[in-house]
Amino acid sequence: MLSSDVAVVGGGPAGAAAAITLARHGRDVVLVDKARFPRDKCCGDGLTAGALRLLEHLGLDPAAIESWQTVSDVVMRSPSGHQAVFPLPRGQGVYAAVARRIDLDSALIDLARSAGVKVLDGHALLGARNDPDRIVLDVDGIGTVQARYAIGADGMWSPLRKAVDAADPGYLGEWHAFRQYFSDVAPSAARDLFVWFEPDLLPGYAWSFPLPGGRANVGFGIQRGGKVARVQEMKKLWPQLLEREHIRAVLGPDAQPEAPHKAWPIPARIDSVSLTARRALFVGDAACATDPMTGEGIGQALLTGVLAARAISLAGVSDDARARGLYESWVAQHLDADHKMSMFLIRALQHRKGARAAVRLASASSWTRRNFARWLFEDYPRGLITTPSRWHAGMFTGVGAYR
Ligand SMILES: Cc1cc2nc3c(=O)[nH]c(=O)nc-3n(C[C@H](O)[C@H](O)[C@H](O)COP(=O)(O)OP(=O)(O)OC[C@H]3O[C@@H](n4cnc5c(N)ncnc54)[C@H](O)[C@@H]3O)c2cc1C
Repeated sequence: MLSSDVAVVGGGPAGAAAAITLARHGRDVVLVDKARFPRDKCCGDGLTAGALRLLEHLGLDPAAIESWQTVSDVVMRSPSGHQAVFPLPRGQGVYAAVARRIDLDSALIDLARSAGVKVLDGHALLGARNDPDRIVLDVDGIGTVQARYAIGADGMWSPLRKAVDAADPGYLGEWHAFRQYFSDVAPSAARDLFVWFEPDLLPGYAWSFPLPGGRANVGFGIQRGGKVARVQEMKKLWPQLLEREHIRAVLGPDAQPEAPHKAWPIPARIDSVSLTARRALFVGDAACATDPMTGEGIGQALLTGVLAARAISLAGVSDDARARGLYESWVAQHLDADHKMSMFLIRALQHRKGARAAVRLASASSWTRRNFARWLFEDYPRGLITTPSRWHAGMFTGVGAYR
């Protein structure tokens, strides 16, 4: 039997951020993941300014990641075909980047190991039981792991959430997204980040995110219950999307798919899901923390991981009620207003006219173009404007990460 202060289930960005933070606060941490690292994760691989600042804070060195690509320009196309370029600030650090998850997550796990976390990859959580003063986990190939707290960082289907009876049985996520890697893409696709608001995907969108070596991560996401009603229809739509003239023109004539596409759901309802279950705290996708407007969740996974770790450190091993209270209130403070803002804006993006107006408005002048890009890439919180408690001097002019 293994014992620790905290057992983290899942070693994606949420679990790694929680484990690193706890270890640096002097806690004894075990992290289990059913996969062996390096492992792939179906994702667009896009990193917002918010995610980048947290990665920097955790000590991640971009030089350790082979597929790291900094992004300076975002190109957006409205449903009517109006295309606009949104520049991110130059010479003040990084505001957007792309890094393959197989590399990023593995580098984060290495950081966790060097912070003193006992990483047990290749071992799945099979079951869990909340006792009054501890949580007891059953881990494949290890046996019993007991800890004062467990952090559920085990993704969309969170087996920990199911094991402690905190899951919603029919839940399938708010979004569903496809992703495929391409090589030999045209120079602009290997350099810039493209977002296409296709009329039949709204409020979803298609993307091409650049990677080093003439590669790109290409994909599309739809909202469940939207225009493309079923995941089966997404499969049919994928080759058709790739044939659309403006998408082909960006990818270029030599672009080659590297492997079959992958698809995965995206959970985005942090305002209505339970964040804790006695001695279990849920973070990242297991807390449905992604942005309901864009489906981005790496920054939110890192943030909730850090917040859960700080709450546990501050409350100590015996006061689990305090740990839960701190974590729930910090998540509300950091993410509720942003979630509401995204839910409000997504109503406009549902309609062709709304999406067209949004791209036109955002590209009206060089000032709106610059500021829209910063807002979109979470240089500051999405709902900052509605929460005076978060206002501070220089909030719209902050430097990027890794300056
Ligand atoms: C197609 C697509 C594109 C996306 N694009 C972007 C993007 O460009 N930018 C962005 O910010 N977000 C994007 N997202 C969202 C992002 O991928 C997630 O929000 C993010 O991965 C959440 O991180 P996490 O650590 O919570 O969970 P995950 O990264 O899913 O990690 C969960 C971990 O738990 C482990 N696990 C699962 N079951 C068990 C078990 N029984 N026992 C032990 N371990 C277990 C898994 O192996 C995995 O390592 C995208 C999502 C999809 C589907």
